[in-house]
Amino acid sequence: MSGQPVIVAGAGIGGLAAALALARQGLEVIVLEQSPRLGEIGAGVQLGPNAFAAFDALGVGPRVRALAVYTERMLLLDAVDESPIVELPLDDAFRRRFGNPYAVIHRADAHGCLLEAARAQERIRLLTSARVEAVTQDEAGVVVLDASGQRHQGAALVGADGIRSAVRRQYVGDAERVSGHVVYRAVVDAAQFPEDLSLNAPVVWAGPDCHLVHYPLRKGGQYNVVLIFHSRHEEVFGVTDGTQEEVLSYFQGISERPRQLLHLPRNWRRWATADRDPIARWSFGRVTLLGDAAHPMLQYLAQGACMALEDAVTLGEAVRACPGQWPAALALYERSRAVRTARVVLSAREMGRVVHAKGIGRLVRNQLWTGRSPDRLYDGVEWLYGWTAASCLT
Ligand SMILES: Cc1cc2nc3c(=O)[nH]c(=O)nc-3n(C[C@H](O)[C@H](O)[C@H](O)COP(=O)(O)OP(=O)(O)OC[C@H]3O[C@@H](n4cnc5c(N)ncnc54)[C@H](O)[C@@H]3O)c2cc1C
Repeated sequence: MSGQPVIVAGAGIGGLAAALALARQGLEVIVLEQSPRLGEIGAGVQLGPNAFAAFDALGVGPRVRALAVYTERMLLLDAVDESPIVELPLDDAFRRRFGNPYAVIHRADAHGCLLEAARAQERIRLLTSARVEAVTQDEAGVVVLDASGQRHQGAALVGADGIRSAVRRQYVGDAERVSGHVVYRAVVDAAQFPEDLSLNAPVVWAGPDCHLVHYPLRKGGQYNVVLIFHSRHEEVFGVTDGTQEEVLSYFQGISERPRQLLHLPRNWRRWATADRDPIARWSFGRVTLLGDAAHPMLQYLAQGACMALEDAVTLGEAVRACPGQWPAALALYERSRAVRTARVVLSAREMGRVVHAKGIGRLVRNQLWTGRSPDRLYDGVEWLYGWTAASCLT
């Protein structure tokens, strides 16, 4: 496209995936990461079949597959009376339907696979302690200014700098939408995990204004635990110290089995979550957004990282389709992604509402979903899990 490198802001799952996708098109890439060290937080992440399709397209599928835990089913249980609401089999029929498995993985392992591949790719340069602050562009390229005053010249900029994206702030400038929902997360050794909860499944306990999630990691040697509740306070988006007392003051009315989860974390950090309203435009000439910077979402469909991976593959394909034309390539990428990701953002909000239903709403949810056949459940997630790299461009 030109002799200049492409600049990617952010070395999270989205930024590293974008760097790999662009390098696979023969481009030089510079990744600017604000942190002094590259890594991910200690927690799990669920990977839909669409994530595996993307990992394969990025050339890291076998590495990720070797570290993932393949869950047998997905379970939604009522946290009040422990009744089963939904059981989605993740067996051979699921894999045949969607072409790939459903799995769970430690975030550090998923990020590590991308990082290892990026380090092995000679076209990618990874720079740490490089916080992107501003960008200027003209017909010839972009100049990215970092916090230490250094200027990085490139052909284009991909803002994969997360939900607080500096690139989005400069070009879109919208406010985040604080959900009022608070998350506590923990990874627990299997020896400390209650035996009656040790299921090879992502398990969601749906409670009134709350829910709890657990699933195995690292060959079942660990369990990921997530506790979510509607705060009674006005929340400010971000991560702060929390307490077990706070956690125990919520989750009223849930039964003993899921209640055991409240005693497992050892580290009481709390995430006050937010998303943003979907936008139709996130490419501006030679600058675009990707992952949480483009479409931050609540976690209720477990798809934020999966969408970032899909974005990266689509960006690579758009660049291939429009050689030498950055604004056209970035517009094609945006066009191919905006509606799909907006649907996920809006559906995730709705899923949070349904999972947290209380009173008669809870009973309506249970009646609507209980007893659905696997085929009917698969039909419902076809739009989400059926994504393929081969048909990613609109
Ligand atoms: C509780 C919870 C559970 C979740 N569960 C799932 C799940 O099961 N499945 C799933 O697919 N998704 C899940 N997600 C969503 C997923 O974590 C995110 O969507 C995903 O990590 C986004 O990746 P990203 O690379 O776009 O952004 P990030 O992971 O935020 O990475 C952004 C990177 O950019 C860097 N950065 C930020 N600003 C700058 C700057 N100015 N200059 C340079 N670098 C910068 C950051 O340090 C970071 O390294 C969950 C989220 C939450 C909160």
